[in-house]
Amino acid sequence: MRQILWFRRDLRVSDSALLAYAENEVLPIFIFDKNILGSLPKDDKRVSFIYESVLNLKKELQSLGLDLAIFYDEPLNVFKNLANDFDEVLCSVDFDSYAIKRDNEVEKIIPLKRFNDSFILNPNEHLKSDGTPYKVFTPFYKSLHLITQASNIEEYKRNENLKLVKFDYEKFVSLEELGFQKQELPSFLYKDAKKLLKEFLSKIDEYQVNRDFFYIDATSKLSVHLRFGLISAKEIFNIVKRSNMNDYEFFIRELFWREFYNYILFHFPNSQKENFNGIEIKWNQNKEDFKKWCEGKTGVPIIDAAMIHLNKTGRMHNRLRMIVASFLTKNLFVDWKKGEKYFALKLLDYEASSNIGSWQWAASTGADAAPYFRVFNPYTQSSKFDKDGLFIKSVIKELEEVNPKLFHIENALSSNLFYNYPKAIVDISLSRKRAIENFKRAKDEN
Ligand code: FAD
Repeated sequence: MRQILWFRRDLRVSDSALLAYAENEVLPIFIFDKNILGSLPKDDKRVSFIYESVLNLKKELQSLGLDLAIFYDEPLNVFKNLANDFDEVLCSVDFDSYAIKRDNEVEKIIPLKRFNDSFILNPNEHLKSDGTPYKVFTPFYKSLHLITQASNIEEYKRNENLKLVKFDYEKFVSLEELGFQKQELPSFLYKDAKKLLKEFLSKIDEYQVNRDFFYIDATSKLSVHLRFGLISAKEIFNIVKRSNMNDYEFFIRELFWREFYNYILFHFPNSQKENFNGIEIKWNQNKEDFKKWCEGKTGVPIIDAAMIHLNKTGRMHNRLRMIVASFLTKNLFVDWKKGEKYFALKLLDYEASSNIGSWQWAASTGADAAPYFRVFNPYTQSSKFDKDGLFIKSVIKELEEVNPKLFHIENALSSNLFYNYPKAIVDISLSRKRAIENFKRAKDEN
């Protein structure tokens, strides 16, 4: 049996389904997919990160007596060339619509075995007693108590008898040959995922209290490593449990939000394109409003700082994601799909399931939707979570000398002659009222 181990979003050797289920002779591969790379800007930071991670994986596999063949091609071409020499392909399952289509096409060329390797749960399982999937997080999470309360979740054990198939594949592709320039990445991304987790464990007991304050470094910052599978969610779960730290429960719960959104995308693939709750909404089509939101020129300091920071770094704190998503979908009344797409372009940790699920949540169109009358007031949010304006000042340098109180009062900056700050593009209370009325009408008509 000759098997291809197709690494994709599981760039690790520990807790690896591919290395556990492989039988004997293997060729581990990674494909830089021309279809995807062609649509990304040349300075995309994620490509730099993936490139580094793929080279590290190659080294790790070499230390196990294996190797990693790296291709720059369309996946179908790669498998057309390899199909005669191999019996099957092992890979981790991916429920993103592009991935499903791609894998179905590959399967026509060579048998493809998919494993649950990127998430803790297999979304096929864990249905309600009537056989239908959960749609609300809390009962879903409660139903998993045997897993979430366990002290350990079994990890995949590597088959140590694998042999590398000698194959004439090697053509080293540099990042430049892929059409990208090396990008400076945030320093935490250069850290090994387990080291990052260890650092986080030293402050996990303050996680619940501090995690909403976006100027405090209180969260794990593991989402990018998780996205590309440099560490598995199971490993994180087990390390956290083993640490026996106080208050880890809240963190484990967050880890299962990631599971929940993957579960939702698996059971409801249409939620990628449609409102999950089925309501029809006549969104605001004004392109200028959307553009100003993207560029961080809305005249609302916390929104502008969050968006400028995202555009510059590819990062955004969870509370800020909620605030800007509420502002776009409720105050500007712009379709969540536009925001979702924009985040997909920018976020270093972009994950289709979590992003779609969270956007639908923020827009009150999702599974477990926030009630439509709950609209975040961005000024109240900034006064609560960035009282001294530390985050805003760190991003918008021109505002460094400003009294932070002015950040939390609507149009206080723009009406102050000392500051050249634009007037807010929307009136917060009027737009809130409009959103609630529109949502109520849409619900009644549904
Ligand atoms: P921590 O607080 O340390 O949490 C640990 C891990 O739990 C995270 O790495 C993540 O994998 C998971 N997690 C935590 N909160 C959530 C959540 N609300 N939903 C799903 N998983 C969660 N997360 C992504 O990974 N990719 C996305 O594309 C993404 N898009 C989002 C879009 C919006 C509008 C919102 C409101 C949230 C989105 N999130 C997304 C969830 C969350 O913001 C990030 O996972 C989190 O900010 C990452 O930082 P961290 O690793 O320090 O998180």
